[in-house]
Amino acid sequence: MSEAGDSAADGRAGAPVDASARAAELRTGLDRHNRLYYVLDEPEVGDDVYDELLNELRDLEREFPSLRTPDSPTQRVGAPPLERFEPVTHHEQMLSLGNARNEEELRAWETRLANYLKRLDITASQFSYTTEPKIDGLAITLTYEDGVLVRGATRGDGRTGEDVTQNLRTIGSVPLRLKTSSPPALIEVRGEAYLPIAAFKALNERRAENEEPTFANPRNSAAGSIRQLDPKLAAERPLSSWIYGIGAVEGLDLPTHMDEVRWLEEQGFKVNPDTDHHRGVEGVVKRCHWWEERREALDYEIDGVVVKVDEKALWRELGVVGREPRWAIAWKFPPTTAVTTMKQVVWNVGRTGHLVPFAMLEPVHVGGVTVSTATLHNEEDLARKDVRNGDEVVVMRAGDVIPQVVSPKLPRKNKSARKPKPPKKCPVCDTPTVKPEGAVFTICPNRTGCPGQAWQHVKHFVSKGAMDIEGLGEKQASVFLDQGLIADVADIYDLTEERLVEVDRFGETSARNLVASITASRARPFKRVLYALGLPGVGYVTAEALADHFGSIDRIHEADPEAIVEVEGVGPIMAEQIVENLGDDGTWALVEKLREKGLRLEADESERRATGGVLEGKTVVLTGTLPELTREEAAALVKSAGGKVVNSVSKKTDYVVAGESPGSKLAKAQDLGTTVLDEGGLRGLLSGAVPVDSGGEEVATEETPAEAQ
Ligand code: NAD
Repeated sequence: MSEAGDSAADGRAGAPVDASARAAELRTGLDRHNRLYYVLDEPEVGDDVYDELLNELRDLEREFPSLRTPDSPTQRVGAPPLERFEPVTHHEQMLSLGNARNEEELRAWETRLANYLKRLDITASQFSYTTEPKIDGLAITLTYEDGVLVRGATRGDGRTGEDVTQNLRTIGSVPLRLKTSSPPALIEVRGEAYLPIAAFKALNERRAENEEPTFANPRNSAAGSIRQLDPKLAAERPLSSWIYGIGAVEGLDLPTHMDEVRWLEEQGFKVNPDTDHHRGVEGVVKRCHWWEERREALDYEIDGVVVKVDEKALWRELGVVGREPRWAIAWKFPPTTAVTTMKQVVWNVGRTGHLVPFAMLEPVHVGGVTVSTATLHNEEDLARKDVRNGDEVVVMRAGDVIPQVVSPKLPRKNKSARKPKPPKKCPVCDTPTVKPEGAVFTICPNRTGCPGQAWQHVKHFVSKGAMDIEGLGEKQASVFLDQGLIADVADIYDLTEERLVEVDRFGETSARNLVASITASRARPFKRVLYALGLPGVGYVTAEALADHFGSIDRIHEADPEAIVEVEGVGPIMAEQIVENLGDDGTWALVEKLREKGLRLEADESERRATGGVLEGKTVVLTGTLPELTREEAAALVKSAGGKVVNSVSKKTDYVVAGESPGSKLAKAQDLGTTVLDEGGLRGLLSGAVPVDSGGEEVATEETPAEAQ
């Protein structure tokens, strides 16, 4: 790089041409990534790749201040709002946060801060710190006028956000009214909307079952759920919120951040219970490490810890630099992504015949392990990400999630690399593959004869939620199929100790144990057999709903799509699919074979709903944690009284039984005027103390949960 100030080489006044050109290139690239991330909720690169580019630009601007344009991504927050939403001007700007990537950077920030305050004659004893998790969700602001929620918005570009009031109202933990009897005339409450990890996994499972594209992470699924126009869709997703601060406010003066958090909690907001207060930086550092260790155990995603100065009077003194307040910083956790070369896309065949792509990688260390293969999910996802053989790719591995390829690192080196296509023949059985009309996936049509599909089916059939056959893992499944001991899942029931001991590495004890667990699996209820059957699109929840509605496989077999659509959670496309798949000769032959082996193809009395009970004909939704009953116990009580337990709230729902942290189902029930009960209310109904059909009134024997406001 030439010297700054070398007039012959000047780009933007005072900066060398190559620095100026690089800054322009970085600005364009970052603007594009910002749009993909903030506007479209479909980032193309991992956060660490983005942060690397942003840091490079920041360094250049520090070295050559003339390169710092007012519209530089280092100076701006997020991206402008989408036009499909009404714009909302924030009363007080929503800022971003500076980053500390390690302890050293955190301590450096603290030293800068202390020096700054010292110049204002403020000594160390006059200020303190707070720590709280940095939630990886979607930043939101909620405006309350005279205590009533009037608007909910996204951050947008920090000054103007998007009006998503209707969607945010569906979040159960967002109070519609503050608890205080003397609310401030106006208050902006700041927080993060997120999808709990378990809910994110369940949502993706359901989407994969329905052959819809899956979400890359909980942040994208939360952002995608809130930044769409249909509040019904948002209500179906169990979104939640963590509230951590106040923006503009009239008529309320809270001197510290801790006071602010406590006040928010009193008003019914969900605030993080582990928000902490520290007198000096040592406590802060310790707490950051504490969060780092706990990260994996949480049921929500965090990407760091936010450290703030507690005394709000000092926030004004310290002010804002660019888009970041001086009084706060985010300690960022080490990345769970890494960049490596993808050698090749390889194809496998799934349980229902779909060809499934995965990536062979140059081994790379990420998230604490060495990874050499990673999932590419499905054909549609592969096309969307546009990764090609030989590309450098971003690989992510977080927690117990299977490593996945997030995106290619662009620009690609080999410009002539072609898009990988699914093979013309099944990689396992060589049958020519087909892409059914209108479908987004290529399949191996050899449903009953393909050993690859058979292997995947055995794995599914014996899994925990299905027949739960211990001692039959994927290795054994592959050996049994290879050696011809079994050809399909029904043959598992013909395995004997004598045949098993002939298999390599099968001792007498393991053979005995396996036969015992196969025998025990004959007692699994019908709904689990139905799930184990592995019909495309029929996950556990759908299998249970079908079993509950029809009571036997024969009745499902006889039903037409119109009858199947009546089942809770089944749409017309899935109904057609069920009829088609169960009607397939090979599948029905397997059902008959399983019948011969003595598996339950009919719901027995204990599974069936009782008749003549107080809840006969009533539909009940359970949500949140009840004080005494587990979900299963509550469901069993409802069923024993003749009621039906379903997953989602609709106009047909008669009662919603809500416990602690009930989520969006409660909000939806309130919107629809459905009767809401707590555990005491449910017991009252069952005992006859509370009359059934009490109308749209709330029936609660204890105080309704905070979120029920
Ligand atoms: P940021 O996410 O690093 O920090 C600011 C935000 O943190 C605030 O707006 C707030 O919403 C949130 N936050 C969470 N918990 C908080 C708490 N307890 N207290 C205060 N604030 C809290 O900054 P940013 O400007 O929102 O975005 C930058 C992030 O987004 C980076 O991680 C970056 O990698 C990522 N990003 C990625 C891409 C991509 O293409 N992958 C593009 C743009 C941004």
